[in-house]
This record gives sequence, structure tokens and C-alpha cells, in this order.
Amino acid sequence: MNRMNETDVQTIEVALGERRYPVWIGRGLLGDGARWRARLRGRHALVVSNTTVAPLYLERLARGLEGLQWSSFLLEDGEAHKSFANVGRALEALALLGATRDACVIALGGGVVGDLAGFAAACWMRGIDFIQVPTTLLAMVDSSVGGKTGVNLPSGKNLVGAFHQPRAVVADIDTLATLPDREYRAGLAEVVKGAAIGDADFFAWLEAHADTLAARGSAAIVETIARKVRYKAGVVARDETEQGERALLNLGHTFGHALETAGRYTALLHGEAVAIGMLLAARLSERLDMSHADDTGRLLRLLERLGLPVAMPDGLEPEQLLALMRLDKKNTAGTLRLILWRGIGRAEIVAGVDEDAVLATLKEARA
Ligand code: NAD
Ligand code: MG
Repeated sequence: MNRMNETDVQTIEVALGERRYPVWIGRGLLGDGARWRARLRGRHALVVSNTTVAPLYLERLARGLEGLQWSSFLLEDGEAHKSFANVGRALEALALLGATRDACVIALGGGVVGDLAGFAAACWMRGIDFIQVPTTLLAMVDSSVGGKTGVNLPSGKNLVGAFHQPRAVVADIDTLATLPDREYRAGLAEVVKGAAIGDADFFAWLEAHADTLAARGSAAIVETIARKVRYKAGVVARDETEQGERALLNLGHTFGHALETAGRYTALLHGEAVAIGMLLAARLSERLDMSHADDTGRLLRLLERLGLPVAMPDGLEPEQLLALMRLDKKNTAGTLRLILWRGIGRAEIVAGVDEDAVLATLKEARA
């Protein structure tokens, strides 16, 4: 694999009229302050990060902040810290900084940091600029793009939030060098998901490059992120607030969330749960005569080659999983509403899904 040149930066626009913004993907972007500084309007910046990422990358980012009045607010590491209490602390940090309406929040980290920092930016003085600097593959291909921000409550994940688009996304793939393999693969699951839902050419491209991707080749990673972001940016531009098409991005997520909840969020990473969930959705779609076994087979093989889990974890009861699926946010009163699959590159929202078929799919997967 060729070493990539630092100047090879891909730019993808998220086309939202006056709120349009660039997503830059490439190497050496953290230190390239001139590029993203142009997106800031004022002189105040609060960098939100966490205790794992800041020691690795804050100094590099800070070189680009020279001349600004800035401070940092660090979360402890983990999903549990994506909390309302920490939003309050981030807002206090903005107050201490003397942040005005033209201030900016910079999120340096994975999806946890990005979701919380974006929500704080949405709240401070009813909304200030923010810049996403994602440092996990999942954040680069998924959470940093599209403007969904928010935090968890004790009663559930992501129950509080706002749509607030960033002013720019700076995806410096050099930061992936320190990302654990398991986190990297979990990000790939969301990539496969995008291709499976809406881009058959991309799916075939992933099949052709699966080995390089599994080995973390940097040129293939840039191309992968760019293709996934281009796909998601298109969906977001057409349906910013999820009135329709954007819901398709939840393929595998109703099954996946049930698996995560049943595993008390510790057994599986989100991307791993989505990988298994997508396969369950594919098998259910087959059972409902919506898709073919060949497509399910291609999905299964691609996920396996990328090192993702494809089997239901032991010890989960189908009835318990179905009960958890009934609690999903996508449901409307009393009926299961799922994203089902028509084969590679095509998905659709189906309401009133037959619970017996879901149960049979879960039982078969366990056997
Ligand atoms: P994460 O933010 O917890 O990061 C995963 C782990 O990697 C953490 O331990 C983190 O400290 C560490 N890490 C981050 N960057 C690193 C690096 N470069 N080197 C070494 N370690 C690094 O998890 P995530 O998978 O990035 O994001 C998950 C979160 O994103 C969830 O809260 C989820 O709800 C949210 N999410 C939001 C959206 C959205 O549209 N807003 C979409 C998908 C997911
Ligand atoms: Mg997801």
C-alpha cells in the first residue's frame, strides 16, 4: 500500500444551504489549523475531549489554536459520562472562558465526546458554532456527520438532544493509529450498513477491498470514509430531521439495541451489535420473502472478513429480545416498525412487522 501524501485530502460537502459544511478526510489535518480556523468566527474556543484522547492529540490540535482564547473540558472515558451533568459542566466551562455568541466548541474524540460537545454548543446562548474532530472510525463515518447531538438519561440512551449541524468536520486519519482494533472494526460495521442500505457499488467495492481494510491500509481507509460520508451526507441533505429516508440508517439497529441492552452494554460494542443486528434483519427479510439468501450470504461473508461477530451471543432469550425490541423509539403504538432489507443496496421501513416471524428468526439464529 502506498503511503498517502499529507496533501491528499478528500472534501465532501454536506449540502444544507446556508448551513452547508465541509467534511475533510486525510492525514495531518489536526495540525493544519489554517484550514479549519477559517470556519471559526470569533476568538473563543472550548475544546471538549476525554482523558484518553486529550493526552494523545490535544497538543497537536492546540498548535492550530494559537492566537485564540481557548480552554479545554475533559470527560472521563466511557458512555456513562455522556450525561446531562457533564453538559452542565461544559456550559460552565464556556461561561468561565467568557464565551460570546461567536464562540466555538471543538469536539476532539469519538462519538461520546462529539454528541455531548455538540449538544452543549446547541444550548449555549441558544446555539453557537461547533467543529467535529472525530478520532474513532465510527465517529468519522457516522456520528460526526449529520447534526444529531445529545446525551443519555438514566432511563435510556440518547433520550435528550438537538439537531445542531457542525461548521466543519476534520477527520484526521492519523489519529486512528492508536485506536484499538475492536473499536476500528466496530466502525466498519456502520460502513457496511451504509452500503447495504443504499449503495450496491460501494458494497462491491468493500468486498474487493475487505482484506486491505481489515489490515488497516490507510489509502483504503480514506476512500472508505469518503464513500460512507458521501452516502450519509446525501441522506442528511434530503432528510435532515428524519421525517423519512434518514430512518433507513437504522438498519440492524432495533435488533442491535436489544442485543446491547440484553448484554447490559458491556458484552458488545455498538458496531458489533449492529453487525449481528443487520444479519438478523436480513434473515427476517428473507423469511418475509423480501430478499434472497444470496444477499444474506454476501453480507455475512463481508462482515466475517472484516473481523466482525456474526453470531448471536450465548445466553440471550428470544422472548426477552423481542420484548426489548417492542420498546424501540421507532415503533408506533403497539406495532413493531423495523428497517427491512430488499437485498444489497436497498432497504425500507416496514410497520406492523409480524412478531411471530421476528421470534422465529431469533430462535433460528440461536440454534
Ligand atoms: P467512544 O466515543 O466511546 O470512543 C470509543 C473508545 O475509543 C473510547 O474509549 C475512546 O476514549 C477511545 N478513543 C477515541 N479515539 C481514540 C483514538 N484515536 N485512539 C485511542 N483511543 C481512542 O465511542 P464511539 O464508538 O466513537 O461513539 C459511540 C457514541 O456515538 C455513542 O454514544 C453513540 O450513541 C454515538 N453515536 C452518535 C451518532 C450521531 O449521529 N450523533 C451516530 C452514531 C453513534
Ligand atoms: Mg449506529
